[in-house]
Amino acid sequence: MSGSESRFPKSLIEFQGRFASESACAEYLFERRWPEGFVCPGCSEGRAWLLKTKAFTYECAGCGRQTSVTAGTIMHASKLPLTIWFWAAFLMATHSNGISALQLQSQLGLGSYRTAWMLCAKLRRAMVNPEREPLSGVVEADETIIPFRTKNDPIVVPAGRSGVGKMLVAGAVEVDGGTPRRARLKVIEGFGKDEIHAFVLGAVAPNTRLVTDDWPSYNDIPDIKHKAITVGPMAAHIALPWIHRLFSNLKRWGLGVYHGLRRTNLQHYLDEFVFRFNRRRTRHAAFDTLLGIGARTAPVPYQVLIRKAA
Ligand SMILES: [Zn+2]
Repeated sequence: MSGSESRFPKSLIEFQGRFASESACAEYLFERRWPEGFVCPGCSEGRAWLLKTKAFTYECAGCGRQTSVTAGTIMHASKLPLTIWFWAAFLMATHSNGISALQLQSQLGLGSYRTAWMLCAKLRRAMVNPEREPLSGVVEADETIIPFRTKNDPIVVPAGRSGVGKMLVAGAVEVDGGTPRRARLKVIEGFGKDEIHAFVLGAVAPNTRLVTDDWPSYNDIPDIKHKAITVGPMAAHIALPWIHRLFSNLKRWGLGVYHGLRRTNLQHYLDEFVFRFNRRRTRHAAFDTLLGIGARTAPVPYQVLIRKAA
């Protein structure tokens, strides 16, 4: 556990005490952004004035440039208080099952469902790091069919491997010394060779040792060391334990949190599930990532911050 992880609030009470006001939130952002003290992104000057007319905005004493503590984060230009953003990110990062817009609305006392939904949607968009590293080493991969519901129907549970009119998901889990590390999940159109190859090549690094069942679509993927295991239907969870556990957790999560996943935005829900799985031991990092705060050891030019936020 890193130092900042151990200092991160462990309970709702602790969190509430630490981030009780707008200025406490702004101070946290300031410390994450300028751990060595203010540095002007324009001219690298270290002296600045806190403006009285604009919230949490500093004016450089050297060049006069104004920089907000929220610039480059998902909170920038939002009308919601920082305390609401912080609470929403904390709940989303620390709830082991995540939280729906409806739950968020009632927990934070938000005036409208629309606001809660937008908040959730923005936080969810922040869950995929575009520069994330592909899985490597030993990786289990498999595919599954996710039950979904339509607006009026009860939950539909499709059966069999053919995927007409069903939600198909491909998954992969990196396994290191018998312990699962990171995962990937992707909505696919079918279980054919093209879809499976595209998923694997997008999720894993060259020379990965890929372990699958004997479904032929996994054969002959370029630059992959493939091991296919022939398994009966009862033994799949033994041969490929981690990907099977991931799929069953995903299905339970979908039913529990959203009362059945829907076809719309399914990939975003998969991204949320993977985000939480991959950061299950680093809640502090999860919280920062959700708010769009990179852990920066060196000052990053303003233009780079802006590009990162896009
Ligand atoms: Zn300056």
